[in-house]
Amino acid sequence: MSAGAPLLDVTGLAAGYGPIEVLHGLDFQVAAGEIVVILGANGAGKTTTMRALSGLIPRRGQATFAGSALSTRPDAVLRAGIAHVPQGRGTFTDLTVEENLMCGAFIRKGSVDDDLAHWFSVFPRLEERRDQRAGSLSGGEQQMLAIARAMMSRPKLLLCDEPSLGLAPLITKELFEVLEQASRSDGLALLIVEQNANLALAIADRAYVLETGRIVAQGTGAELLADDTVKQAYLGVG
Ligand code: ATP
Repeated sequence: MSAGAPLLDVTGLAAGYGPIEVLHGLDFQVAAGEIVVILGANGAGKTTTMRALSGLIPRRGQATFAGSALSTRPDAVLRAGIAHVPQGRGTFTDLTVEENLMCGAFIRKGSVDDDLAHWFSVFPRLEERRDQRAGSLSGGEQQMLAIARAMMSRPKLLLCDEPSLGLAPLITKELFEVLEQASRSDGLALLIVEQNANLALAIADRAYVLETGRIVAQGTGAELLADDTVKQAYLGVG
């Protein structure tokens, strides 16, 4: 990768379900260590964007990651360094907390004990429940588990789909602090889909606004907050 090139560079991303095209050609970038947010109303295509990037649904267009063409196969995307925390968390409910975390590390070679200890220190509630089935955890704990599981693969880029969905404000704040910390201190790049725009823009370096499968605005949080149309339509203010 040449100096200054984005970590993820996407051009003309198109994707959908069967014959229905949902994304109509998106161009966006994420730099190494950058926090980028995708905002948009229900049905705009935010989740579809995440699925297309991680190879869960077919996509068209160009995508390069760390200087190489991004595969369309989920396992290859993960091995390239992109982990996905899906909407609804996607934890394996019949497995224990620890087993879920070990699943997240399946692409790694050698011991992952240090990572396990690290994520248990970040989320002590997961350590207390390490032998419990994931299905018995609260929504907030399951979201912690989903994030920690994805981080066990040591990604360069974490795709995080609506981490705040259905969670109490205090838990949401804690999760956003953990994500921001992982980015600022460990250089993790984050692409976060969020309906809670004010929350997301508070930690974002940049954001894109998606509307019916097209990017209609982009900029820093401050720039978007200065745009009256964006403010009224997506930020619940103005
Ligand atoms: P939300 O915040 O409600 O999740 P979103 O911006 O993430 O919204 P998507 O979930 O990407 O939106 O959905 C975009 C469009 O694709 C919607 O019209 C939706 O009905 C459609 N869609 C989503 N998933 C499927 C699917 N599995 N099969 C067919 N259509 C789908």
